[in-house]
Amino acid sequence: MTHHILVVEDEAKLAQLFERFLQYKGYQVSVASDGLAGLATARESQPDLLILDWMLPGVSGLEICRRLRSTGVMVPIILLIAKDEVSDPVAGLDGGADDYLVKPFYLEELFARVRAHLHPNQEEDSDTGQFADLSLNRSTREVYRGDRLIELTAEEFDLLDYLLSHPCQPFHRRTIFEQVWGCDWSDDNLSILDQCVCCLRKKLTANGEKPLVQVLCGVGYVLRE
Ligand code: CA
Repeated sequence: MTHHILVVEDEAKLAQLFERFLQYKGYQVSVASDGLAGLATARESQPDLLILDWMLPGVSGLEICRRLRSTGVMVPIILLIAKDEVSDPVAGLDGGADDYLVKPFYLEELFARVRAHLHPNQEEDSDTGQFADLSLNRSTREVYRGDRLIELTAEEFDLLDYLLSHPCQPFHRRTIFEQVWGCDWSDDNLSILDQCVCCLRKKLTANGEKPLVQVLCGVGYVLRE
């Protein structure tokens, strides 16, 4: 069953970004760009989840939340709050929101919250890891990008597994080395890590796919789109 998510967001670029990302994750997505339209669409189309920007033209996200709750609409609501706005997460939760995210946030963070509210009883399958079109199976030690099987060495697999277990989280090279190789870092060891990352990146993008393992200059590495 495809879940339907309504995104109420007045910044067109952001709305489009959320829409594409959530569609890519397999959801049906509708977008409304102001408060009144959002409220009307939420009532008419009865989405399975609502992503609601706080600051909207017309009716605010918080007000939409209150109005829906006061008429018994119990759809899960995630409020989006901008850092510089005078909006109080506690007031949001008091107003009936189930959760909130402070902008800017990583899309994978949004996905994690959406998943938690739409599939609260679904346990994470610890045997497999998934990020964008990348999937990894820890029992068979197979890695795919889409349908393409990628042959990795043991070190490359463990390195990718580590990054995939912490998507969008930047790591210092020293940390990665110590966690993956299980021994203290040294300058020589770090160059082994760099070579391993370099080979892994080549293998993951051999068919012209988007690079997912990204280099943070002078710092380390991160898995993100
Ligand atoms: Ca806004």
